[in-house]
Amino acid sequence: MKKITLIVLAASLLAVSCKHKEEEKVLQYYETPNPYEIVDVAMPPVDNEVRNVIIMIGDGMGLEQVSCAWVVNHGKLNLDRFPTVGLSRTYCTNELITDSGAGGTALSSGMKTGYSHVGTAADSTDIPSVLVKAQELGKKTGVVVTCHFADATPCDFCCHNEYRYNQDDLIADYVTCGVDYLAGGGLDWFTVNRKDGRDITKEMAAAGYTVALTEDALMKAELPVIGILAPDNLPVAMERGDLYRRSVARGLDILSRESGDKGFVMMLEGSCIDDWLHGNDIGKAMEELLDFDRTIGDVLQWAAADGHTLVVVTADHNTGALTLQDGNLEEGRIGVAFGSESHNGIAVPFYAWGPGSDAFTGIRENDEWGRLIASFVR
Ligand SMILES: [Zn+2]
Repeated sequence: MKKITLIVLAASLLAVSCKHKEEEKVLQYYETPNPYEIVDVAMPPVDNEVRNVIIMIGDGMGLEQVSCAWVVNHGKLNLDRFPTVGLSRTYCTNELITDSGAGGTALSSGMKTGYSHVGTAADSTDIPSVLVKAQELGKKTGVVVTCHFADATPCDFCCHNEYRYNQDDLIADYVTCGVDYLAGGGLDWFTVNRKDGRDITKEMAAAGYTVALTEDALMKAELPVIGILAPDNLPVAMERGDLYRRSVARGLDILSRESGDKGFVMMLEGSCIDDWLHGNDIGKAMEELLDFDRTIGDVLQWAAADGHTLVVVTADHNTGALTLQDGNLEEGRIGVAFGSESHNGIAVPFYAWGPGSDAFTGIRENDEWGRLIASFVR
């Protein structure tokens, strides 16, 4: 009898303490004012010849972030259209928890490297990205981002440095990167932010690039072109409207036209998802991810009509230790908590769609995914 009383007492104490913790838990709630319909496309046969490869990277976009966005958009995302998924382990050669430099370099070059390396191996030698392979095969290449061009991921594909914060050196590498269509932000990084007084936009013009500082100029320019559409990152998703999507659409249009049967390779980044995960701002992170997903829908529509385009979507690493703890699917509302303002080592999803997509399965290292992508650039 005494024993039973003690058990009941212990159980009720536990219940009180759990309830107490529940009440203390402060969740961030979010629902979007702009839910959207996802695209309805038929995927071309997986054994069609692959001419074009489109690599889409959601910076910091783990399965937690995708799950949250799926609820916010009332239970649908264009990512749902991908028939093949896998998991990517993101650690780098000298750190368990990677950064966008090493994480993106593994995808761009097929080689794991050291923390903060950008387009260089762990021993600091330059390593070519998949865009260089494409150029050597006579394909056209493109990079479209929402961040500034000195940020790590676009540099992983176009530049080489052992330290991602050597931004003056990194920006200067764009002059000789050979990429045909570049669009993003960061004019100040080419000009007033520099310590050496160089104006890299002038050097790019001298190298043959059209330097487009407005959307209008970007839409009219022939290749090669660099669209630098903001002093730093592009405005946040809610303010920039469809600017990123239009920049991607122009890239698809002009690269496909100019590359003919040779095809093209593009890297499209939802760059600023990560920034707002670092800032633990779920609303801004969700709007960046939803803009990225809308762009995925545009890309799928284009690729379905083309029939020879492999589309892959992944992340360079996971950020924010996000947990989805409350919400309502019908109302598109989430209640979340962040456990960190930093990156973490949880594996990220890898999605593939289109010709060749059936090869992209399993649990793999990020560098192995990079080599698999490159094997379809041929
Ligand atoms: Zn980050």
